[in-house]
Amino acid sequence: MNPPARPNLLDFDRPSLAAFLRQRGEQPYRADQVVQWVYQRGEDDFGAMTNLSRVLRGQLADWLEIRLPEVVADTPSRDGSRKWLLRLADGNCIESVFIPEQDRATLCLSSQVGCALNCDFCATGYQGFNRNLDTGEIVGQLLLAWRALQRPGQGRRPITNVVMMGMGEPLANFDNVVRAMRLMQDDLAFGLSRRRITLSTAGMVPAMDRLKQACDVSLAVSLHAPTDALRDRLVPLNRKYPIAELMAACRRYVAGEARRRITFEYVMLDGVNDSEAQARQLVALLRPVPAKVNLIPFNPFPGSGYRTSPRVRIDRFREILLGAGILTVTRKTRGDDIDAACGQLAGRFRDRTRRRLALEAAAR
Ligand code: SAH
Repeated sequence: MNPPARPNLLDFDRPSLAAFLRQRGEQPYRADQVVQWVYQRGEDDFGAMTNLSRVLRGQLADWLEIRLPEVVADTPSRDGSRKWLLRLADGNCIESVFIPEQDRATLCLSSQVGCALNCDFCATGYQGFNRNLDTGEIVGQLLLAWRALQRPGQGRRPITNVVMMGMGEPLANFDNVVRAMRLMQDDLAFGLSRRRITLSTAGMVPAMDRLKQACDVSLAVSLHAPTDALRDRLVPLNRKYPIAELMAACRRYVAGEARRRITFEYVMLDGVNDSEAQARQLVALLRPVPAKVNLIPFNPFPGSGYRTSPRVRIDRFREILLGAGILTVTRKTRGDDIDAACGQLAGRFRDRTRRRLALEAAAR
């Protein structure tokens, strides 16, 4: 397939669009108008942007295109969540998931086609890795869902929260993810506050520090084990950035801000990481970190080789953390009937040969 000829408008945040227009002799404030049209009004035809001159509308259409992923499947779950399978310009497919709750409506976005980290219990990892998503492919997921959920005349936002917890490791696609999250925060685009955007990482320590500088959103860390011996096996990235370094990076991320916490995700694997002794090890590990813990019942997929911890053991684990004063919730499994739950997103894609290269790069 030939690469598309014109840049995708969705790859630009507002400052970079202003710079693009300035280079072409246009007033930079035109970027404000275009961004409002595209993200606030959902317009994807430059010709309809009526507060721009006819000439400029024509030029914009010559310079740029507004390229959204194509919806291949739109699947509702019986619990109200909803999954989109989206095809990108190169034929790869990714998934995003909408999760409505009483007090918020969350969209879970993918950041890569596949994932190179190869966590032992994750279906995305089993699929291998193909490539990073562009900024426009990340905000495109949000824009599509926003438009699909928006009801005419309804003032409320159809999506109040975004979590970078779909396919991929967002910090391994740093620049594109940061640019996308800036658009999410931009008042002329999606206008989400930084508290309402959560990035989840398997623990890419140097990138966590860079994130704090570049785009200070809420941080979730996929911990899953209280010791290096076990975490090395479950999350191979731990061999590069072991737990002590990860905890130090977490402390730096929230340093000096009294009420900020890191969310630690902990997938409950039967007989692997769910004992009372491991709960107590976790308590000791988290004592110096302002933490909240999300226990995630393992979502099975064919060939994983793991089972979900029994409910009583999850409850006991949670009681031990709560007893030590650590705010702990058991995440409700949503969308498991449509394979939309944590760790079940697989998408469809071509060419997994790059996986080996990416793994080697991550190990270096
Ligand atoms: N790479 C990032 C983003 C993925 S977020 C990260 O690791 O944080 C997806 C979350 O779901 C992570 O906490 C991940 O560890 C968890 N997860 C993966 N597979 C799962 C499964 N089968 N069941 C439950 N949770 C899973």
